[in-house]
Amino acid sequence: MKITLLPGDGIGVEIVDAAVEVLDAAAKKFGMTIEYDKQLIGGAAIDATGVPLPEATIASAKTADAVLLGAVGGPKWDNVAPEIRPEKGLLGIRKALGLYCNLRPIKVSRFVAHLSPLKNERVSGTDLLIVRELTGGIYFGAKNEAAPDADGVETASDVEIYTRPEVERIARFAFEAAKKRRGKVTSVDKANVLASSRMWRRIVGEMQAQDYSGIELNNFYVDNCAMQLVLNPGQFDVVLTNNIFGDILSDEASVIAGSIGMLPSASLGDSTGMYEPIHGSAPDIAGQGIANPLGTIYSVAMMLRYSLDQDAAADAIEASIDRVLEKGYRTPDLCGEGLTKVSTSQMGQLIAAEL
Ligand code: ATP
Ligand code: MG
Repeated sequence: MKITLLPGDGIGVEIVDAAVEVLDAAAKKFGMTIEYDKQLIGGAAIDATGVPLPEATIASAKTADAVLLGAVGGPKWDNVAPEIRPEKGLLGIRKALGLYCNLRPIKVSRFVAHLSPLKNERVSGTDLLIVRELTGGIYFGAKNEAAPDADGVETASDVEIYTRPEVERIARFAFEAAKKRRGKVTSVDKANVLASSRMWRRIVGEMQAQDYSGIELNNFYVDNCAMQLVLNPGQFDVVLTNNIFGDILSDEASVIAGSIGMLPSASLGDSTGMYEPIHGSAPDIAGQGIANPLGTIYSVAMMLRYSLDQDAAADAIEASIDRVLEKGYRTPDLCGEGLTKVSTSQMGQLIAAEL
C-alpha cells in the first residue's frame, strides 16, 4: 500500500518521523508492504515552490491509500500573501480529497487524566468519538456583506444549508462507527430554532428506525451538549454533528483530555483518508526533539483502522502505547516525578520495540 507523508512545518517533521518508525514496526509484524511518498505542504512547500499546496502533493495524495500529515504553519510565514498562507494548503488538500467526515476520538488515558482541567474521577474512562460533517453547513453556504442601507444600517449573513444526502452520509458513518463501539449515537443540533437542524434530526431519526434499531439514539441541543461534555463526558459514545457545532465541540472536548499532544484525527471522504494530530506545528518547541508524537502515532492507528483495513495492527499500536506509558516513559510535556523523560524519536522507538 502507498502512504503519502506530508510532514509540513515545525514539529510536523519530527512527529511524522517517529510515527513512521512505529508504522514500519507494525508493517513488519503484520506482513504489510508499505511504500512511502514524502511530499511538501504548508510553509515548507512555500519555501521550495512558492505555493502551499503543489500539484505534485495533490497528485500523490489522490493516488495514495492514505495520507499522514504532521502540521503546517509558523511565524516564518506570517507575512506571506493571504492566498498562499500555509493553512491554505490544508484547506486545499481537504477539498481536493473530498473529505466530508471528520473524526476526533477523545479518549482520556488513565496516564494523563490528572492533567485534565476537570476532576480526575470525572474524566477518567471518557472514550468518545466526535463525527463532524466537514464540507457543508454555514461555512459553505451563501455569504453576504451588504453596505449600509439608506438608514445607515449594515447587514451581513451566512446561510446554514444541508441537503438530505449530506446528512445521510455523515449519519450513516456515525451509526456504523457506533456499531463497532458501544452502540450509542448522540446527535447534536439546534432543532428548537433552526430549520436545518429540524431536517437533520428528522433524517437521523428515520435512519435509526429503518436501519439502525440496535443503536441507541439521543438528540441533544448543542448548548446542552456543551454543558454535558464538562459535567459528564463519560456518557457519550459517538457524537454526530454538523460542521460548525462540531468545530466548537471538538475543541471543547479535546481540552478535557488533559494533553493536546495525544489526540489524533481522521478526515474521510469517498477515496483517500487523511490522518493528523489535532495540535499545530508548535513553533515554540520545533527542532528540539521534545514534541510528543503520540497524537500522530494514534493517527497512524486510525489510518490502519479506517483506510487500510488493518484493525489488528491498529489495536496492537494502541496497546503498545499503553505499555510504554505504563512503564513510565514520557515526553517532557507529560513528564513528572518518578517518570522517565524521553525524546520524540525515543518515544517512537520505544513503541516500535514494544510492538
Ligand atoms: P495552530 O494554529 O496550528 O493550531 P496553535 O498555536 O494554535 O497552532 P499548537 O501548535 O498546537 O497551537 O501549540 C499550542 C501549544 O501546545 C504550544 O505551546 C505547543 O508547544 C504545545 N504543543 C502542541 N503540540 C504539542 C506536542 N505534540 N507536544 C508537546 N507540546 C505540544
Ligand atoms: Mg490552534
